[in-house]
Amino acid sequence: MRILVTGAAGFLGSHLCDRLLAEGHSVVGMDNFITGNPNNLAHLAGNQDFSFIRHDVSNFIFVPGKLDAVLHFASPASPNPNSPFGYVNLPIQTMKAGALGTHNTLGIARTHQARFLLASTSEIYGDPLEHPQTESYWGHVDPIGTRSVYDEAKRFAEALTMAYHRFHDINTRIVRIFNTYGPRMHIDDGRVVPNFLKQALCGDPLTIYGDGSQTRAFCYVDDLIEGIYRLLLSDEHMPVNIGNPVETSILEFAQLINDVVGNQAGIIFKEGQRGEGDPQRRQPDISKARNILGWEPKIDLETGLERTIPYFKEKLGLA
Ligand code: NAD
Ligand code: UDP
Repeated sequence: MRILVTGAAGFLGSHLCDRLLAEGHSVVGMDNFITGNPNNLAHLAGNQDFSFIRHDVSNFIFVPGKLDAVLHFASPASPNPNSPFGYVNLPIQTMKAGALGTHNTLGIARTHQARFLLASTSEIYGDPLEHPQTESYWGHVDPIGTRSVYDEAKRFAEALTMAYHRFHDINTRIVRIFNTYGPRMHIDDGRVVPNFLKQALCGDPLTIYGDGSQTRAFCYVDDLIEGIYRLLLSDEHMPVNIGNPVETSILEFAQLINDVVGNQAGIIFKEGQRGEGDPQRRQPDISKARNILGWEPKIDLETGLERTIPYFKEKLGLA
């Protein structure tokens, strides 16, 4: 296939490009570098099967030549209001990437009669009242809070994707991605993995927002990409959760990182850092992915962290 990947210079987009190329596809990457980094694609320079277009997906998209698939991953993704790369500080761009960007990428999929895959998120469940979250749960979302720019844009994106599927018969997929980590995350984007690894590797205390009882379930990037690739090749049009179902409190996670890195500086608790709407519990029910894709994650948290640490050491000049 010849595949357009938007958000290609980001964390997930760049790994996706690598996987698609390794499977023998040809890839057109697109990005405007708002939260991504061209270095994430530097190793593809000179690859005959890869080309790149610098473009904001909120504007009309033109790609020369035939496309067989469009994978829409372009969007700021960090909720951290302390980071310039967090979507709280890029609110209009985030809404435009999720709304106009999804419209434009669906439009190009329609023009080419290409299959389409939307990168959605566990955030569409909001601060969930059902636990773990299955795909049939409608969510508990604040439509006007600071996180709403991301959550509502992704909910709109899902609705628009289903509309194109039902009305225009576009061959669509929706992946609901849960917290994923690994090399090429933006070191300053303020998400918990970059923050904690940076702090631990520098010998600083880890900053827990709140009391650390909130939970997440962390998936290593290679596992996630495997699930997304299987979904792309499947015939499933309804949303599918892809994530690691092992639920961990942020306190346990901080302790694990300090142990793995050997950081003696401990933990400090910071109130009011995240603002409203920090989800209290999050855990994917992946029964659907297991049943229809035969997929489940293989890499445990400790192994994934060990594979991620060398990248952060290099970025921090500690390698
Ligand atoms: P990222 O910030 O590393 O990558 C996003 C990429 O999109 C960046 O390279 C950025 O420059 C690009 N981008 C943003 N707006 C754009 C625009 N208007 N035009 C062109 N390019 C644009 O984040 P990520 O973690 O790789 O996330 C990728 C996708 O996966 C996002 O859609 C995000 O919502 C989704 N997702 C990620 C996670 C996760 O844990 N990493 C979880 C849920 C959903
Ligand atoms: N968090 C934290 N310290 C940090 C960064 C994040 O305690 O330095 C917490 C944050 O409040 C949230 C969890 O870690 O409860 C995961 O945050 P992240 O930004 O990675 O993404 P989210 O899962 O909230 O979308």
